[in-house]
Amino acid sequence: LIDSAIAARQDSAVTNIPQAPSIITRDFVFDYLIVGAGFSGSVIAERLATQSGKKVLVVDKRNHIGGNAYDHYDEHGVLVHRYGPHIFHTNSREVFEYLSQFTQWRSYEHRVLASIDGQLLPIPINLDTINKLYGMNLNSFQVEDFYKSLAQPREYIRTSEDVVVSKVGQELYEKFFRGYTRKQWGLDPSELDKSVIARIPTRTNRDDRYFTDTYQAMPLHGFTRMFEKMLNHPNIKVMLNTDYQEIEKAIPCREMVYTGPVDEFFDYRFGKLPYRSLDFKHETHNKEVFQSAPVINYPNEQLYTRVTEFKYLTGQEHSKTSIVYEFPKALGDPYYPVPRPENQEVYKQYKALADATPGVYFVGRLATYKYYNMDQCVAQALSVYKQIPVRA
Ligand code: FAD
Ligand code: UDP
Repeated sequence: LIDSAIAARQDSAVTNIPQAPSIITRDFVFDYLIVGAGFSGSVIAERLATQSGKKVLVVDKRNHIGGNAYDHYDEHGVLVHRYGPHIFHTNSREVFEYLSQFTQWRSYEHRVLASIDGQLLPIPINLDTINKLYGMNLNSFQVEDFYKSLAQPREYIRTSEDVVVSKVGQELYEKFFRGYTRKQWGLDPSELDKSVIARIPTRTNRDDRYFTDTYQAMPLHGFTRMFEKMLNHPNIKVMLNTDYQEIEKAIPCREMVYTGPVDEFFDYRFGKLPYRSLDFKHETHNKEVFQSAPVINYPNEQLYTRVTEFKYLTGQEHSKTSIVYEFPKALGDPYYPVPRPENQEVYKQYKALADATPGVYFVGRLATYKYYNMDQCVAQALSVYKQIPVRA
């Protein structure tokens, strides 16, 4: 449209016909097109709009904002996370203070049990886990010696198997990690980067919290309310149910921030990057409490990896309770980049291409192919925003 209008104007100039005042100009309606309304896209949109006075169009192909952190009230009125349990935790004061502009918080420390040999035991493995599993009564010093007696030291810690076996030996590795990881990733821990299982520490004390970060809290009214506040600004327009490719030609923007899968952006030029997916099976039960912990992991039984009961996370009081089962799968919506060296090699090629693509910023878990938690996405987005040379 714009090109033909300009061509028509040029034609009229050549033939000396007086020009009608044109209503179509090359001025951009939006400065930035932001692809994806998850943490990464929403943070950058908020910063560009409020700090730099830029006009921003956020598009998401889903029918809601919030990306994978989206939560909503289900048909029974229970607040649930559509894409599995999301627990906020961070050591970054900057990230916590930034998000605190858009939400109040409810203090929440996450705890997880693992179903092992017919018992429900604390994971990360701690002193109580070992005492219950083996019917012992060790103290912290003794359990440290116990781990040492089981550990099989390895010269190099390269894979996720190395991480566990070198610390606590083969048996605990088999009971707690091997089966879960094979289910979750479709790969043996020996085929996965050490960083994956290194997310889970081993403890000699009785601390049974899943995370030990300084800030651990849930948005008081849920993640989606928080995103609504972030995006509620006259300079921000949100368009849902829209793939950016449907509108990028019709609505020109000066620059783009892209938070979708990086390989898709480049039409899989270097092949597909594997992203692990999940099926979520949501259920509501006609009782107040379903299980004895917010999350129960099933390393060795069942086809699902874990079961989450949302009311523990949200603090909601309700006569019914809603839960979700997670069934891992290879294909489907991309949820997890798969950290292993061969994938990193392919990603490097995409990264080089991304770096050489002017006017497009690649941000977030899918676009930078990083197994990032929410807070890491916020930190990355804030840092990318600071690097954007914002023109007047
Ligand atoms: P996303 O949230 O994936 O957002 C990207 C958005 O881009 C999507 O909404 C997508 O629809 C949209 N999009 C993609 N392509 C296009 C296109 N072509 N056109 C338009 N829109 C497009 N983190 C934690 O800190 N704590 C947790 O407890 C936690 N639990 C998790 C549990 C699960 C099951 C999963 C999968 C993740 C979990 N995370 C957790 C990680 C967290 O979800 C991510 O770090 C964060 O949500 C990623 O934000 P993002 O904006 O980068 O990506
Ligand atoms: N893991 C495991 N057993 C468990 C919990 C975790 O083997 O009981 C491994 C598994 O490989 C998992 C990884 O540790 O994918 C990271 O766990 P986390 O709970 O951080 O996964 P996420 O919440 O990101 O799905």
